[in-house]
Amino acid sequence: MGSNRGRKAGRHFLQIPGPSPVPDRILRAMDTPVIDHRGPEFKELGLRCLDGMKRIFKTKDHVVIYPSSGTGAWEAALSNALSPGDRVIMYETGQFAVLWRAIAERFGLTVDFIASDWRSAVDPKVIEEKLAADKAHEIKAVCIVHNETSTGATSAVAEVRAALDAARHPALLLVDTISSLGSIDYRHDEWRVDVTVGGSQKGLMLPPGLSFNAISAKALAASKTSKLPRSFFSWAEMIDINQSGYFPYTPATNLLYGLAEAIDMLEEEGLDNVFRRHYRLAEAVRRAVSAWNLEILCRDAARRSDVLTGVFVPDGIDADKVRTLILDHFDMSLGTGLGKVKGKVFRIGHLGDTNALTILGAIAGVEMGLALAGVPHQKGGVDAAMDWLMQDQSAGVKAAA
Ligand SMILES: *Cc1c(COP(=O)(O)O)cnc(C)c1O
Repeated sequence: MGSNRGRKAGRHFLQIPGPSPVPDRILRAMDTPVIDHRGPEFKELGLRCLDGMKRIFKTKDHVVIYPSSGTGAWEAALSNALSPGDRVIMYETGQFAVLWRAIAERFGLTVDFIASDWRSAVDPKVIEEKLAADKAHEIKAVCIVHNETSTGATSAVAEVRAALDAARHPALLLVDTISSLGSIDYRHDEWRVDVTVGGSQKGLMLPPGLSFNAISAKALAASKTSKLPRSFFSWAEMIDINQSGYFPYTPATNLLYGLAEAIDMLEEEGLDNVFRRHYRLAEAVRRAVSAWNLEILCRDAARRSDVLTGVFVPDGIDADKVRTLILDHFDMSLGTGLGKVKGKVFRIGHLGDTNALTILGAIAGVEMGLALAGVPHQKGGVDAAMDWLMQDQSAGVKAAA
């Protein structure tokens, strides 16, 4: 898009792990005059979004929608549920966990940050031990990132819930699903999560600018006596006026038109089919990486993310140079290495409105980029991905016959 770059034909390949490409249907749904957010027409849109998001979070609890990026919903979760000085457990799955901790510390929470090497998911046993040792119940919350977008590790929320139960600990469970919601199965009610944090620009296929909290009755009760200051992000005002479909301040009306469309699209495909599609495309990428003989950042195969894959480049090579070369030659954006793994990895996003041929195009772009950048690797990633996608497709056809 830079003035010196000229026109690029075809679609830019936005293969970063969010924002993800926005489908034309959503763009068209948002391309509409702004309406009166206190008028009768808005009520219907507001209720459609609020009710729809409950189905996406799989909850009957309240869901609130903020006109903010995901970071706002992180702040909302902490500031509504907790009080200054409260002890919380957080888990260093990667850069997003590090950023959430920074917010907690700025709010004066006392964070017990469980260190990790950024190559694995949450280990529920460590959390259980810490909770079991806290006989006085001083720990008020456990905060985890469901899908760590900086590394590509997905944690088992159900197992973390089980760890709280096994320790018979009353701490709140707060979960960041900003990059998993709409891509990986998530069950706010079944897993008895107290606050789920979401964002618009990843699995929900929307532009950036909306964020969410799903709030359990227990978290809502905690917010009545908690002492952290909040105003813009206050649940109480939101929930009160949301009952009638309206918002306490001007909502991001046109993004809400997009959200209503995104919910329709996810439900037309069926959430389970959406999750299966993400698995199938993720597996194609993982097989390609393995054929290249490169290493996947997440060490535990069972916890590798269906949203993105972090790929190590061999020592002595700058992953960002490879990314830049791929952008220049093939007009494809890949995710940069964040924090601790800067320059060591690139990330391939395979989330949102993506299909088999899109992902094959992305894999082909990476394979050509590796060759052009002189990265030692083996050819055959595209073939491995095609073999997997064909095999899986024919299974689907047989099942349908
Ligand atoms: C993207 C992301 C965030 C940050 O969201 P912003 O919209 O950039 O504020 C937080 N957590 C996770 C897991 C993310 O993927």
